[in-house]
Amino acid sequence: MTDALRPPAPRALTTVEDLVRKGLAKAADRGALTAVAAAFRIRIPPALPLDSAGVRAQIVPSSAELDIRPEERIDPIGDDAHRPVPGLTHRYPDRAILHATQTCEVYCRFCFRREKVGDTGALSDADFASALAYLRASPQIREVIFTGGDPLTLSPRRLSAMLRALEAIPALEVIRFHSRIPVVAPEKVTEALVAALDGRLPVWLVIHINHPDEITPEAAAALRRLTRAGIPLLSQTVLLKGVNADADTLEALFRKLIAQRVKPYYLHHPDLAKGTGHFRLPLAEGQAIMAALRGRLSGIAQPTYVLDIPGGHGKVPVGPDYLEPDGQGGWIVTDPNRNRHSYKDL
Ligand code: SF4
Repeated sequence: MTDALRPPAPRALTTVEDLVRKGLAKAADRGALTAVAAAFRIRIPPALPLDSAGVRAQIVPSSAELDIRPEERIDPIGDDAHRPVPGLTHRYPDRAILHATQTCEVYCRFCFRREKVGDTGALSDADFASALAYLRASPQIREVIFTGGDPLTLSPRRLSAMLRALEAIPALEVIRFHSRIPVVAPEKVTEALVAALDGRLPVWLVIHINHPDEITPEAAAALRRLTRAGIPLLSQTVLLKGVNADADTLEALFRKLIAQRVKPYYLHHPDLAKGTGHFRLPLAEGQAIMAALRGRLSGIAQPTYVLDIPGGHGKVPVGPDYLEPDGQGGWIVTDPNRNRHSYKDL
């Protein structure tokens, strides 16, 4: 087939008109969605399975995003409160976050960095040089976490250059990437990308995935390319009303992940990002879901349910609790069926 006859490659949906044309939004909602798009970008890559309601709910904008609640914040997890140099967050002593780019392949409607993502592109050379200088002068930092935006939107060449520069810092022991690319744009997990990640420092990759339908055959193949290269894979999931806030959906997701050699790592309680109230649910509901999963799922499929304390105070596990004092020096322990037992440890 000549290039002239070849059908055009599918492209990402980025405008309200794209959504209306694809039947993902009603023409009558144009006005509200245009207001949403002015505040929070739209981008839906072609690889995502749009026949899945759980996938659509994460990425198709809704007029509910115009409902900004008093408790919501521009910087819900306090990145800016711990930013010693541009592009770097240093919240915990032994690790630092490198905001390698603000670009994402998909703009998730619940994103906790939604006020920032898409604003600028990759970290400039000058800012990366400042980050390197800070890391060199901070030997207590052992781990650098590439996040964004989505760092795997950077070219393999750029990633390779950044990684090789970090490898020259003796105190660093491990690199971590947080990315949605293997599920939202699996075609970008190329041999060149995998090769770029292979250097002196071990790379751990944490994929962001929220619904079992995101593991398409193409995504599974991308995950296989990564595990075959010896890259350990973890996952993080945001607990989202209307997407995955029930034990059945999460059980299906976590089972699929361990079958792909991905260890479920964190289940995040949704952050107080602006215009995301329709995704949030009470902590007690999240705890009840986790309690149900404890009895159903193997330990290797259990993530830790965590809350990022607003204001930059860090991330903590939020239960459910299985242990409480009995008031007489012993303990009451709750089993996976929620029956309570007395336990004396001394
Ligand atoms: S890919 Fe990550 S950083 Fe980008 S919009 Fe989605 S949640 Fe936010």
